[in-house]
Amino acid sequence: MKQSETLIPTLREVPADADIKSHQLLLRAGFIRQTASGVYSFLPLGKRVLRKVEEIVREEMDNAGASEMFMPALQPSELWMETGRWNTFGPELMRLRDRHDREFALGATHEEIITSLIRDEVKSYKKLPLKLYQIQTKFRDEKRPRFGLLRGREFIMKDAYSFHDSFESLDTAYQKMYQAYSNIFSRCGLNFRAVIADSGAMGGKDTHEFMVLSEVGEDTIAYSDTSDYAANIEMAPVVTNYTKSSEELKEMEKVATPNQKTMQDVADFLNHSLAKGLKTLMFKVDDKLVLVVTRGDHEVNDIKLKNLFEASIVELATEEETKTAIGAGFGSLGPVNVSEGIEVVADSAVQYVSNVSCGANADGYHYVNVNPDRDFQISQYADLRFIEEGDPSPDGNGTILFAKGIEVGHVFKLGKFYAEKMGAKYLDDQGKANTMIMGCYGIGVSRTLAAIVEQYHDENGITWPTKVAPFHVHLIAINSKKEEQKQLADEVYQTLKSAGIEVLYDDRKERAGVKFADSDLVGIPYRITVGKRADEGYVEFKHRTTGEQSELHQSELLESIK
Ligand code: ATP
Ligand code: MG
Ligand code: MG
Ligand code: MG
Repeated sequence: MKQSETLIPTLREVPADADIKSHQLLLRAGFIRQTASGVYSFLPLGKRVLRKVEEIVREEMDNAGASEMFMPALQPSELWMETGRWNTFGPELMRLRDRHDREFALGATHEEIITSLIRDEVKSYKKLPLKLYQIQTKFRDEKRPRFGLLRGREFIMKDAYSFHDSFESLDTAYQKMYQAYSNIFSRCGLNFRAVIADSGAMGGKDTHEFMVLSEVGEDTIAYSDTSDYAANIEMAPVVTNYTKSSEELKEMEKVATPNQKTMQDVADFLNHSLAKGLKTLMFKVDDKLVLVVTRGDHEVNDIKLKNLFEASIVELATEEETKTAIGAGFGSLGPVNVSEGIEVVADSAVQYVSNVSCGANADGYHYVNVNPDRDFQISQYADLRFIEEGDPSPDGNGTILFAKGIEVGHVFKLGKFYAEKMGAKYLDDQGKANTMIMGCYGIGVSRTLAAIVEQYHDENGITWPTKVAPFHVHLIAINSKKEEQKQLADEVYQTLKSAGIEVLYDDRKERAGVKFADSDLVGIPYRITVGKRADEGYVEFKHRTTGEQSELHQSELLESIK
């Protein structure tokens, strides 16, 4: 591609509102431009990198036995109502109405669409397992779109879905996908870790996030210095050895289950429970279920909640919505505590730590008629706190260290949640109808691009790993007005192109200094400069990352480019 014929609008200055390197450099090197908050255009260079990442993703998905398809971004609200997520997804879901006043969502994710499709098209166990994926634009009205491509409101995701007739089959697919994800991020040149994750609002239990290690990451990873153990800190609380006396327990029980039914009590209760280090709680007040997800500093009824990730109280109006919320976020989570006024119906931190078994593990859940000691153990009342650096690793090997991570991928075992809600059934070999079992697997493709830049840059610009670089070679003629330089550069351009090497040819009528600065900024792995010794057929060959350079004859070029 000739630089004079394309659009690479480089900037010398650091854009004022870009705080992190990938955002700054992708803007400065002319890869992206912002159209609205969290909404970006990919310019020719950006689009090329995107395609490289997408190709890696496609190859690995195809290898894992998944088939590519493409689903609509415009999604009828009815499907989201079937799963209850029209209500529970909250303001992150972009909603709109058509001219007939019908409601739609812009796809934030595609479980509803694919499950409805498969329910109609797949009726027999003979068609299972089935793995499908797409690479598509997703919309999420993020509260704080920021960091350029890292947290957009419109972004590109690869999402895959698998359908099964047994949990063993799901396990196999999950392992395959996990391996495919490791391959993808390795091929992108990323330094990453797969960590145990929180199933959050998507439902399901077994789940891992793929985290690119980076100071600008919004997640904290707790990992062992000696073993493979690594978890999102949200999922890595520890129990201190301290056990409460029965007197103390009774006292706590009193505070924990006040015999009143006001929101204020809920807030008090919440505050108390949070002080114990619990992170996700659900309460029932009268017949309304109040779902409380705690993450971050937050205020509830003027009560400030500290040292948490975020808190929100959602009043769930109907029984159906209540069940949906439980199924979506907490279905497989354990302990349940019934009191007269307020019920703590699920608490994921406790479940994780003490591995309490109660009526709510496996596929089902219940949140009434659950008794302490019978259905869950008293270890719920052990002192809990979030894991800290220096703690022993929960797997018993080594000591915990912290690192910041960017979540680039996420794999989930969804189980039956969506299929049950939407009635996706297959007939088994006995002719009996069963609910399908599902997995889902996402990769932030545009986020991955930015994560690569976070790990690959220096003070002069981006230093792309070859496999995802927009071009392999940046060819520069120092002075295109000099006939012998232009001639040699043209020749090299043709030779490389015919050899299948991707070349960006800077044939612009710019000063050499400008071309070099732009070239460093853009970060193509190899630079070939045609200058003084053009008449003898010699060029300068420079490696962007190492800065190594040498003079080569044009005949030696092909073998030097790997
Ligand atoms: P986050 O915790 O960063 O908000 P998420 O857990 O909500 O991400 P998932 O629902 O797991 O995201 O979606 C799959 C993948 O899509 C994520 O692992 C991430 O790489 C990507 N992704 C999610 N939200 C965004 C966003 N706002 N901008 C860019 N990529 C995103
Ligand atoms: Mg999110
Ligand atoms: Mg996440
Ligand atoms: Mg996620």
